[in-house]
Amino acid sequence: MQEKSLSELDEAHVWHPFTQMQTEKNRLEIVAAKDAWLYTADGKKYLDINSSWWVNVHGHGNEHIGNAISEQFLKLDHAIFAGATNPKAVELAARVCQILPSKFQKVFFSDNGSTAVEVALKMAFQYFHNKSEARQRVLALDGAYHGDTFGAMSIGQRGYFNEPFEHFFFDVDFLDFPTKTNEEQLLLKAKNLFETNEFACLIVEPLVQGSAGMRMYSSKFLDQLTNLAQSFDVKVIFDEIMTGWGRTGTLFALDQCEVKPDIICLSKGLTGGVLPLGLTIATNEIYNAFLSEERAKALLHGHSFTGNALACSAACASLDIFEEQETKDKIKRLSDWNLQFLNELANHPKLLDVRQCGTILAIEIEIHEKSSYFSSIRDKAYAHFVENGILLRPCGNVLFFNPPFCLTEEEYGIAKSAVHSFLAKI
Ligand SMILES: *Cc1c(COP(=O)(O)O)cnc(C)c1O
Repeated sequence: MQEKSLSELDEAHVWHPFTQMQTEKNRLEIVAAKDAWLYTADGKKYLDINSSWWVNVHGHGNEHIGNAISEQFLKLDHAIFAGATNPKAVELAARVCQILPSKFQKVFFSDNGSTAVEVALKMAFQYFHNKSEARQRVLALDGAYHGDTFGAMSIGQRGYFNEPFEHFFFDVDFLDFPTKTNEEQLLLKAKNLFETNEFACLIVEPLVQGSAGMRMYSSKFLDQLTNLAQSFDVKVIFDEIMTGWGRTGTLFALDQCEVKPDIICLSKGLTGGVLPLGLTIATNEIYNAFLSEERAKALLHGHSFTGNALACSAACASLDIFEEQETKDKIKRLSDWNLQFLNELANHPKLLDVRQCGTILAIEIEIHEKSSYFSSIRDKAYAHFVENGILLRPCGNVLFFNPPFCLTEEEYGIAKSAVHSFLAKI
């Protein structure tokens, strides 16, 4: 039998995410990665400016994380987590509670961001069910993205992505995205909704909406909204899956808020971005509503890989790295470069907006068609950056940097000049 190439085997057997398999044919054959670089089979390298779908925080091939995983493998790979526990999962839970505000004390494990959100929704719904309170409605923000499972899709932006499934979704109320001019109006709308006493929860991506194109809003508005929700006993869920782990300049977006939520979802950078893992973290107040003599009042939810020791060992090693001053310095440095670049680009005639939140920089290109994921500028931009040795996946007309924190000034410069050359050519 003649040996098939990687791309032939891929074409024959692999179904890729978010991909029209008939027309989108070219795939980078990534065979190695180190620090901020991805290396392909044809001998080229690409700067991983979006951290491999926003997950990688410390750079690829981090030795501390790698050693932790291999040591853990020799001790305990994976074991059941119902009726059993393991040291790395416990260590992770305890350490995460230690770095969060003190009201967060209970950690539920799952496998990824979407499942962390599903668990958060179940916690909020069952909290009221267990208390025999009829609260079943959800408030979310327009443009939200919380994942691709059914519950997560229901509370996200409706559109092309989930149209075939829309008739299965539960009803959700959406607030317009907060801008400086509509905040009062939104708070009034939220108040009217909460006054029905039908709302179980409010879910938001705090400070930055990722998939909507790195849209940013103020912590002051978020404080007001959280406060309002909590005054009606509506549970507030912060989906920090994208914003967590230093992205917004602080360890979590909630560190920039005065008013803290009731439930937090973490994933993506949690393991340093090297293994799948999700956490849903609740207050004791929520947890206590599940305590009963009746088994049916328990959170009857779980995944085969709940509490996976390897993923937890990676996450603990990543926490070690976050404790180092050097990591804080890197986050600060990256935030400073972003701010400088933002100032350089301000008032650029081809840009609609440039915005920054910590290590995230978003550059929104002016287009004279409606901004959408399918805008042709997206494909042109993606191709331009690939040609220049940079892997940057725009959201529609929004280019953004959310790189691993190990990025050097020289590497940042490479990304900057590719932005300039793209802007010059459009
Ligand atoms: C990526 C993301 C998710 C979904 O996480 P997956 O691991 O891809 O399921 C949920 N919420 C936010 C804010 C995200 O950015």
